[in-house]
Amino acid sequence: MLNGVTAELETTLRAALPDQTFRATDAKYLEEPRGRWAGQGGLVLAPATTADVSTILRHAHAARVPVVPYGGGTGLVGGQVQAEGATPIILTLERMTAIRDVYPSENVMVVEAGAILANVQETAAGHDRLFALSLASEGSARIGGLLSTNAGGINVLRYGNARDQVLGLEVVLPDGTIWNGLSRLRKDNTGYDLRNLMIGAEGTLGVITAAALKLHPRPHDETAAFFVTQSPATALELLSLAGKHFGNSVSAFELISKQGLEFLAATLPDVRRPFSENPDWCVLMDVGVMGDQFANDQIEAFFVAAAERGLVTDGQTAQSQSQRAEFWAVRENIPEGNRRIGSISSHDISVPLSVIPEFIARGNAAIAKVGDFRINCFGHMGDGNLHYNVFPQDGFSRDDYLSERDEIKRVVHDLVHKLGGSVSAEHGIGRLKVDDLERYGDPAKLAAMRAIKTALDPNGIMNPGAVLRVV
Ligand SMILES: Cc1cc2nc3c(=O)[nH]c(=O)nc-3n(C[C@H](O)[C@H](O)[C@H](O)COP(=O)(O)OP(=O)(O)OC[C@H]3O[C@@H](n4cnc5c(N)ncnc54)[C@H](O)[C@@H]3O)c2cc1C
Repeated sequence: MLNGVTAELETTLRAALPDQTFRATDAKYLEEPRGRWAGQGGLVLAPATTADVSTILRHAHAARVPVVPYGGGTGLVGGQVQAEGATPIILTLERMTAIRDVYPSENVMVVEAGAILANVQETAAGHDRLFALSLASEGSARIGGLLSTNAGGINVLRYGNARDQVLGLEVVLPDGTIWNGLSRLRKDNTGYDLRNLMIGAEGTLGVITAAALKLHPRPHDETAAFFVTQSPATALELLSLAGKHFGNSVSAFELISKQGLEFLAATLPDVRRPFSENPDWCVLMDVGVMGDQFANDQIEAFFVAAAERGLVTDGQTAQSQSQRAEFWAVRENIPEGNRRIGSISSHDISVPLSVIPEFIARGNAAIAKVGDFRINCFGHMGDGNLHYNVFPQDGFSRDDYLSERDEIKRVVHDLVHKLGGSVSAEHGIGRLKVDDLERYGDPAKLAAMRAIKTALDPNGIMNPGAVLRVV
């Protein structure tokens, strides 16, 4: 049984923490990008040190008061807002933004959890290194939130997801104990991997306060190209050909549908689309080559090889870095176009690569049986991760279909599950997908997750209601 924040707890915390820790309950802490939940105003605390985080958790644990960790607030599954239950402490990492150390010779950087991703990327670039995590929310998302959701983004194909960028963590456990796991080791087989347990835990097992991150050498030259391809099946063949041609130099391979480009034209006409006529399917590919090679020479040769095999019918290669950015603006604005149209149900799914064409064909057919909808299917095809979003026809709004929403979601997720896929590829579970995890999760895994949660957080204070239904 949890208690809400009391005046008594606040007095205790005020005596133990500097005044700057206490923040007004600004609306931003209570909102999330999809507008599905409104968080409860509790006590907003912005600690500046790991020791202060520890003090907060120690007192919250003793008083059995919920704690909701808050990063940049960009999470898409409602993990950062607690809409019901006992009023929580909202613990924001916004004052813990330091880059603690950079070790260029080790390709390692140690940062605090409140550091914003774009700043981490810039610092790495200042040392002629690459921090490989990249996503459209990088100007706001913070390292602690990115690791807690095990974020993906556009470079997973080459560099892996957030989990793959981490060597060590510093975490405050629910009772206030500090786990100092800020290791810079690339090999360390000493027992259970607590680091990988905390990554992706969405604030339910503790508060990440710092991370030792992996850096990479920067590619010598980079470019991007759009290719028109007939179908998801030919896009898959193109991906395979790209693997043979470039090895691991392909950093992104994004599938874009005609519907996505049409939404963009309708909602954000200033975003320059790559082709005068929107093709049914196209692919945006990004390549970064090492040594003294030139990316454009290679991608032009690839274009010829792909056209000879009948895999592409048209294409455009970026002739400058500003054109490359223009190409990426198309991809990165598709979610905003979607938001303006208003989806009835959005799905962040993954399936085995070879199953993608079958998933799209069967998904479209199954949705057509539910009703007359528009589908924008796009995303990180190279990772088997698609955003498969269902919209009303022109002239209708999402509110006209609220009663169909659950059926649409069920149809898509049942198909994904049947095809051996995941109903959350990169956004996490949060509060949005708790029921899905119960429905599709392996029972043994769910039981182990509950046992871990109870062992580490016996009072259940960490982000209650997120990820797991604790029975
Ligand atoms: C425009 C846009 C584009 C996006 N594109 C992508 C994409 O391509 N790929 C992708 O994977 N995601 C994407 N996202 C989702 C989002 O950016 C990620 O989920 C991000 O990782 C969340 O980081 P945050 O700092 O905003 O965390 P928040 O939203 O503040 O929190 C997310 C979760 O982490 C927990 N948390 C936060 N900080 C900590 C901490 N220090 N310790 C423990 N728990 C913590 C919170 O309690 C919550 O459960 C996108 C979002 C937007 C708005």
